[in-house]
Amino acid sequence: MVVIRVRTTKHTSFVNITSQVREAVRSSGVRSGMCLVYVPHTTACVFVNEGADPDVVKDIAYSLEKLIPWKDSYAHGEGNSAAHIRSALVGNSRVIPVEDGELVLGTWEAIFLAEFDGPRERKVIVKVIKED
Ligand code: ZN
Repeated sequence: MVVIRVRTTKHTSFVNITSQVREAVRSSGVRSGMCLVYVPHTTACVFVNEGADPDVVKDIAYSLEKLIPWKDSYAHGEGNSAAHIRSALVGNSRVIPVEDGELVLGTWEAIFLAEFDGPRERKVIVKVIKED
């Protein structure tokens, strides 16, 4: 298991962690299997989407903010319910196939840590499971 540490610098931000996950896969020595990427936080999460055009993740952030506004009649007293809801909807794990010792990602795909209540120090857990 590899733990990637990410320091986010804004309240909402999407950090491309693809190169760190690739490095974790290479260091595992697994040639064929599955790579689990897990975020053990309740106001941050992980997703796979286009990494080539930064406007795509900007639009994802914009749309999530529109769907789940920061201020609303939420019950949770900490005042960050929107971050919890956005994270719950996006999800805190992804599984990516590994073949020939590399992540099998589409040409434009990248792995992002999504921060919804930063800036904070975040952890991303990477576990590579070997196929028999
Ligand atoms: Zn909270």
